Amino acid sequence: MTPILLYHQITAEQDHDDPFALSVTPENFEAQMRYLADNNYRCLSLKEAIARRSGQKDSGKTFALTFDDGYADNYEIAFPILKKFGFKATIFVVSGFVGRSLCWPGEREVAFCTWEQLDEMWSYGIEMGGHTSSHPNLPELSLAEAEFEIRDSKSMLEKHLKRPVLHFAYPGGHQTPHIQDITMATGYEAGLGVDIGPNSQFNTWRVQITGNDSLALFRLKVSGRFEQLKRIRHSSKMAHQVTQLAGNVLNRLRG
Ligand SMILES: [Zn+2]
Repeated sequence: MTPILLYHQITAEQDHDDPFALSVTPENFEAQMRYLADNNYRCLSLKEAIARRSGQKDSGKTFALTFDDGYADNYEIAFPILKKFGFKATIFVVSGFVGRSLCWPGEREVAFCTWEQLDEMWSYGIEMGGHTSSHPNLPELSLAEAEFEIRDSKSMLEKHLKRPVLHFAYPGGHQTPHIQDITMATGYEAGLGVDIGPNSQFNTWRVQITGNDSLALFRLKVSGRFEQLKRIRHSSKMAHQVTQLAGNVLNRLRG
């Protein structure tokens, strides 16, 4: 199974109060990319990685890279490193944040890529995907509002970058079957999540790389075994819920 790695910021400025440790330092990011290159891992496009995940054949040592939100450091720091190793990636851009500087609640101000930077990266082969226009938690919106966010991010990116936008990532990986349906109806080929809910074409799981990961943990994550363990945990959790539900039904029948 080809793991699809998920990054956010690549920066030396670490938030001490970031509970998710979503920023990876430039040194760690470069060491991770060097590990992949030195160990003959092959970087696939996101489209190819998704196709291989649904097939049965062994994907060997392959991976795909994704970055969420569209931070300026993806251009300033990650892009030169990706070029050095000849790796491609997909950046999921919040269309309403392009060219702006914003503060996430309780965090320092961060800058997002400009349209020119996104265009330059796409010319090299780093594809852009949709990630809503304002980064809401989609399941908390009405379906009409969710549809606007999903549709608007695609049309804004296509208007400014003049290339087809094929993939969408749910903010925080949060989605529902209805939101997955809207994503499909909007014309995206796949929806990318994290590991919430069952893995599928419109909730393709990704493996999050955090600032706390040692190189040993990174090796486990890129080997595909980390996701397998998560899937087993997920299915045993479901099995546990089914057993519980069956128990409740039996108790009710007895009562
Ligand atoms: Zn995001």
